[in-house]
Amino acid sequence: MTDTQLHSASAVSAPCSSLPAPEAVVEEAGIRIFREPMVYLLSRQTISEQELNRFLAEHGIAWETDTEVAAEKLVETAGRICYMSFARPRPGGNAAYIRHILEAGHGSVLEHAVWSFLFVGVSRALTHELVRHRAGFGYSQLSQRYVDESVAEYVEPKVIAEDPELHRLWLETIARTHQAYVQLAEKLLEKYRDEPDRTLRRKLARQAARSVLPNATETKIFVTANARAWRHFIEMRASRWADVEIRQLAVKVLRLLQQEAPHLFGDYELRPLPDGTYEAITPYRKV
Ligand SMILES: Cc1cc2nc3c(=O)[nH]c(=O)nc-3n(C[C@H](O)[C@H](O)[C@H](O)COP(=O)(O)OP(=O)(O)OC[C@H]3O[C@@H](n4cnc5c(N)ncnc54)[C@H](O)[C@@H]3O)c2cc1C
Repeated sequence: MTDTQLHSASAVSAPCSSLPAPEAVVEEAGIRIFREPMVYLLSRQTISEQELNRFLAEHGIAWETDTEVAAEKLVETAGRICYMSFARPRPGGNAAYIRHILEAGHGSVLEHAVWSFLFVGVSRALTHELVRHRAGFGYSQLSQRYVDESVAEYVEPKVIAEDPELHRLWLETIARTHQAYVQLAEKLLEKYRDEPDRTLRRKLARQAARSVLPNATETKIFVTANARAWRHFIEMRASRWADVEIRQLAVKVLRLLQQEAPHLFGDYELRPLPDGTYEAITPYRKV
């Protein structure tokens, strides 16, 4: 599907994951190298039609809207609750209603629609930036204290991967650092040998050993956010000023959300940048 099709799509069923390019994960010198974020859309908004209909019936309201997308219907319902404006909807249906919300900046009603994503093959540098987004976000990230990092998995920036000399330097440094982590973890386990609790012993060793792990260390993070928060994230991170890795991630999220809820995310236009990535542009910033 082209960006233009995405832009004008009405209700498209979304894939549950976005598949990476074949060269996105490679193995070299015993190190698994990730070169593209992997995005899994794990959950989307649902709506209880039964409860909504019960509310409408109890208030003597006959109201219907023209979207099949629960998130879009929920946002319209929330907006109409504010003024009890179910009776005489303006023409244009749900698309026009949500467009008016975006124009007016009535952003709080967007907070009722929620999606959860799992991001895999992303660097610790990326997640450090990601978790700066606070309002409307929830996070669960792979623990470096509980989970052994001795399986070597790292994220390599494209600009380094494309240059043989830079790639060699990067790989040598990662291999050396990884080796240091493994040795430190082993020696620290030995140091804590008198600790009877096996789980605690490992945690004590790993939490100290991880201090040598680089920003490039691969991680996994489960993220839930509402439509308003995802929009702000996209505007900040699918931006030419953002780091390439998080920009690629934000564009992947946007593409999925545009398929999920075109009335809520269809106003973004993806424009190509000189480095082959895209930036997202909208007339309705920070709703
Ligand atoms: C290109 C780029 C470069 C950056 N460089 C740096 C850097 O060098 N150093 C650095 O530390 N950070 C940097 N950041 C991170 C940036 O400062 C923000 O922390 C991050 O983008 C999250 O944005 P936010 O605070 O608007 O988002 P959220 O936390 O999601 O908040 C959304 C909005 O809610 C409101 N809000 C949230 N919390 C509060 C609050 N406590 N009080 C009042 N209003 C609130 C604000 O209006 C905010 O914009 C950079 C970000 C980008 C995109």
